[in-house]
Amino acid sequence: MFNETEHTVFLPHDRLAGLLAAIRAGGWQCVGPRVEQGAIVMAPLAESEGLPRGLQADQAPGQYRLGADAKQRYFAWANGPQALKPLVFAPQETLWRVARGTDGALTFEAAVPDAPKRAVIGVRACDLAALALQDAHFLRKGWDDVHYAARRAQLFLVAVQCAVPAATCFCASTGDGPTPGMGYDLALAELDAGFVVVAGSAAGRAVLQQLDLAAATPAQIGAAREQGDAAAAAQTRRLPGRDLRDTLMARLKHPQWDAVAARCLACGSCTAVCPTCFCHAEHEAPALDGASSHHAREWDSCFGETHGHLHGFNVRPDIRTRYRQWLTHKLAGWHDQFGRSGCVGCGRCIAWCPAGIDFTAEVAALTGAPDVKEA
Ligand code: SF4
Ligand code: SF4
Repeated sequence: MFNETEHTVFLPHDRLAGLLAAIRAGGWQCVGPRVEQGAIVMAPLAESEGLPRGLQADQAPGQYRLGADAKQRYFAWANGPQALKPLVFAPQETLWRVARGTDGALTFEAAVPDAPKRAVIGVRACDLAALALQDAHFLRKGWDDVHYAARRAQLFLVAVQCAVPAATCFCASTGDGPTPGMGYDLALAELDAGFVVVAGSAAGRAVLQQLDLAAATPAQIGAAREQGDAAAAAQTRRLPGRDLRDTLMARLKHPQWDAVAARCLACGSCTAVCPTCFCHAEHEAPALDGASSHHAREWDSCFGETHGHLHGFNVRPDIRTRYRQWLTHKLAGWHDQFGRSGCVGCGRCIAWCPAGIDFTAEVAALTGAPDVKEA
């Protein structure tokens, strides 16, 4: 949030490299947006020159294209295919290893990752909200996932307000964006000449103190707030409510499930890019000599054929039941598990669906509410 306080400062564009240097001096490795294979992805970031300045991301159902930003801003692109999820919940990892000694005894060894201190530059409000949901799952009291916790504890998050939402974004309707409201160490709102910056943690304040920045003016803070309001108003997609649990659970036999199943490829792309999905599979990977094995975990998807296989039969044998599981878990079951919906309105599942299936349109068809705001 960008309010008029003595701690709200202004960082001119030509001091951005200084901010990254101050973060590095604190011992964090920087990860930030980079253009790779035509998309903006999170990758190691050596210098601010590597940031994708002057780009926007045009997105639509089944489409993602980079285009030019006339204002030459650093963060005019809306989110890319990755969120924070791969940085804390690894796509593939070893959870533990076991070795057989010469006497046949088995020795088990935990495989906790040696997580580096990592600063992520350019985190969006929807990504912070998704991280809070992943925390609720992986850091549940008494059930902490040590692999997730090790990486999570090392994160320093530099959030950025979205000024140019993609056509697929609907975070305003879920209440999660486009201005970062919580969970960041630093939050930036980019204006034409630089950034309004606020700290959200002691670590963030310590980094800012090294830069000796002037306080942001009331005009700059006002511009940041207006920009956030305008970005929210510009979003055309939306969900028809924040709690659709009962509405959806009353429609488990709706014909729309058949209609979407006829188009869905069950590829799982939507669950891979979704920043809140946490389903995974575990399996043993024995060495060929039989002397050792490791227990591996990797991302799984409710669209996979084996995901619903339980004790000799499949509880979700077709795409209709798998799509219904995805949507009703996300928008209904999460209310029972976590007290809110599991959708933060990032729109990734819309842009990265090869069949162009629009999550908001499917919800609208199921609930009878319009999926696009009246012009
Ligand atoms: S909804 Fe789209 S992305 Fe998801 S499984 Fe179906 S075809 Fe793949
Ligand atoms: S369901 Fe779609 S829009 Fe919602 S958080 Fe997941 S990827 Fe983003």
